[in-house]
Amino acid sequence: MVKIFLAPRRYVQGAGVLNDIGKYLAPLGKRILVAWGPVVSEQFNDTVTKSFEENGLVLIPFKFSGECDRGQIGLGVDKAKAEKAEVVVGLGGGKAIDLAKAVAMEVDAKLVTVPTIASNDAPTSAATVYYTAEGNFDGWGIWPRNPDLVLVDTEVIVKAPVRWLISGIGDGLATWFEAEAAYKGRRIALAGGVATQAALTLARLCYDTLMDFGIDAVRDCAGHVVTPAVDRVIEANTLLSGLGFESAGVATAHAVGNGLTEFEECKPFSHGEKVAFGVATQLCLDEDIDPDERLAVFDFMVDVGLPVTLADLGLGDISEEALRSFAEVLCGPDQITHNHVFTVTPFDMYSAMVAADNLGRSCKALVE
Ligand SMILES: [Zn+2]
Repeated sequence: MVKIFLAPRRYVQGAGVLNDIGKYLAPLGKRILVAWGPVVSEQFNDTVTKSFEENGLVLIPFKFSGECDRGQIGLGVDKAKAEKAEVVVGLGGGKAIDLAKAVAMEVDAKLVTVPTIASNDAPTSAATVYYTAEGNFDGWGIWPRNPDLVLVDTEVIVKAPVRWLISGIGDGLATWFEAEAAYKGRRIALAGGVATQAALTLARLCYDTLMDFGIDAVRDCAGHVVTPAVDRVIEANTLLSGLGFESAGVATAHAVGNGLTEFEECKPFSHGEKVAFGVATQLCLDEDIDPDERLAVFDFMVDVGLPVTLADLGLGDISEEALRSFAEVLCGPDQITHNHVFTVTPFDMYSAMVAADNLGRSCKALVE
């Protein structure tokens, strides 16, 4: 049994670190392609330009559409080649970061991720999630290298809408339950091996941090202040969740979260929000889950404002037939639902989604 643990080469987190981005990038190279979406490029152009000038770096801006599809990746590769970029930076949300990974690997440049929101665990990993130009899930790939640097400015993150931190909590909540599920069967994680004790411990720490500090962090982030709770939750959403999912494994929570991208009604919802319902489903699928713990997680998700019902994701009117065929897809041949130690049938999956929806509704009714 081979165990593999992957990690970025350096992780920097703090308030105001983006103002010094040039200082952190300078040791990696001089000609730097920055991939960012239309909104983020406007927002941070002055900060980045100033710091690049101070450090004698050449900024090669690449404004992509906002979608991480293969066409946009191709455009980024062409630009990086034409401009002889030595470093590729993904600055923004998960899609900017995933796109930067693909571009950096294709042109063999150094890779830096600079998340401006803590909504997902993409920044530390070597994985790219592909979408179609229309925003549907289009598979994922793992690159041979993790980022050379992950730069997380907590002050930038608390200025973004709190919904993104909440989404990251949804994504991060999945990490421990999926890691534990995959490890029970000694399944091969995305990293290419079985989970190390390190990955499992980090996944557990992610879960404990979110449960202990999540509610405070959401309140503080909504007030746009960096507090110790915010600081810990940003680390959990970004570093702990990233290391955990990649090196310990994924299962039903992400199968459901990714699968939900197929529904038009779910388009307005983030990755983490969809994965949250996946967590709810997995907790109702796995009979080893302690019922008190399941309830505590549901209550927590309701408290922080994560989706726990189908209606929360715009699927309140989904027919039994449609939900059963979705369950069928989730149990298809290459699905990560097979990472559980038990066999997951479409019958079980359908039942778990309905059970999650029912439990979610009763938890919400109690607080209303
Ligand atoms: Zn995720």
